[in-house]
Amino acid sequence: MKLMNCMDGVVGVENRQLVIIGAGPAGLTAAIYGRRAGIGVLLLERGMSGGQINVTAEIENYPGFKHAEGMELANAFREHAEKFGAEFRDCEVKSVSIDGDVKTVKTNEGDIEADALIIASGASFSRAGCKGEREFAGRGVSYCAVCDGAFYEDAPVAVIGGGNTALDEADFLTHFASKVYIIHRREEFRAHKSAVDLAAANPKIERVMGFIVDEIAGGDMVERVVARNLKSGEIREIEVKGVFVFVGTSPNTEFLNGDKSIERARGGWIVTDNKMETSAEGVFAAGDVRDKFLRQVVTAAGDGATAGMAAYEYIFHQHRLKSTLLAPEHVTAFFMSSIDSEHLAIASQIDSMEKSGEEKIVIVDAHRNLRIRKKLDIKVLPVVVEFSRGTKVREAVVKTFDDIINFREKH
Ligand SMILES: Cc1cc2nc3c(=O)[nH]c(=O)nc-3n(C[C@H](O)[C@H](O)[C@H](O)COP(=O)(O)OP(=O)(O)OC[C@H]3O[C@@H](n4cnc5c(N)ncnc54)[C@H](O)[C@@H]3O)c2cc1C
Repeated sequence: MKLMNCMDGVVGVENRQLVIIGAGPAGLTAAIYGRRAGIGVLLLERGMSGGQINVTAEIENYPGFKHAEGMELANAFREHAEKFGAEFRDCEVKSVSIDGDVKTVKTNEGDIEADALIIASGASFSRAGCKGEREFAGRGVSYCAVCDGAFYEDAPVAVIGGGNTALDEADFLTHFASKVYIIHRREEFRAHKSAVDLAAANPKIERVMGFIVDEIAGGDMVERVVARNLKSGEIREIEVKGVFVFVGTSPNTEFLNGDKSIERARGGWIVTDNKMETSAEGVFAAGDVRDKFLRQVVTAAGDGATAGMAAYEYIFHQHRLKSTLLAPEHVTAFFMSSIDSEHLAIASQIDSMEKSGEEKIVIVDAHRNLRIRKKLDIKVLPVVVEFSRGTKVREAVVKTFDDIINFREKH
């Protein structure tokens, strides 16, 4: 099936079926699913495709890969999306505007109108900003306990930060590490009381309050942190094999700042339903940019698969709505529910009537197509409706196939 773009044939406006912002694991997986479903896919990426996994030395928790280098996995994801014909463009998305069905993506390479949009722009970790942090990234400095905690079995580690994430992750790290130092610049944690109490009760956790880390030091790998008390100036050198930095993570959503239609949770994370659809119709979000529990490659890929299929379904239904119900000069449609056996019986009678050459009546499963039902303001089922160029001319609630025939004969 080839679905046409809404703007096919219009000169001067680049129009695409599915535009995906970000070619990390979420965006690349969405591209694979979208292409396999038969829709046109354009991925917009401002950096390297693969996203955050490009800066991940080792990945040990992506199913099927007992051990992979981040770049190796990034390349495998990209090659897979290319194999199915996804198109890539190197550009930065500057803004997105949603006006009903029209979704406009402004980039430094021009504007694109999309039938459906997936935001898979990921997240960025804030850095502590101390000496040695960049140098030892991937050699003892980490930003993800779930990813790297298991590398520190029976070894001492430090956590930098004092919010909920820092305390939760410190608690998680005590499952592996021999000792966890939480180094925080303030005298009090910013986390919830329950997380603070949990940390206080954990014998493996030592709190180093009122200190900032001046340096992360070592040889090939991290060996110690140098911390300084902000009031007294006291210097503490703490021997650790790993340093986990949790001083903040934020979604990459600067380009949404001018848009109010996409709901966001505290911190700016995008809110979606279980189909990854945002509060703006036809706009989906997948991966780390979403308001979610676990930010990992596998969950980003899972979100991407759902978003890719949901976007396909959206485009398909929009296309069907336009071509079968809204565009024709005259059309009669039967709106029913596929979970009601009486509705199904009427639908099959309509099917057999069509086979004998009668005028076509479009059958719409309004149970599965809630969006179409809402758009066309279908309140009761089953109902038969006559449209002329997308405008309702008349409608009648029906009980039997004969009711539909009577309705049509009155035309
Ligand atoms: C150091 C580190 C180690 C990690 N280790 C592991 C691990 O071992 N196992 C694991 O499962 N997970 C790990 N993770 C987490 C994992 O990498 C992420 O959960 C995953 O990459 C999220 O995928 P994503 O596609 O949602 O976002 P991202 O990977 O962040 O990709 C988003 C993409 O969008 C692009 N983008 C953003 N804004 C724009 C814009 N305006 N215009 C165009 N493009 C844009 C970015 O350049 C990026 O390429 C690690 C993360 C880090 C940082």
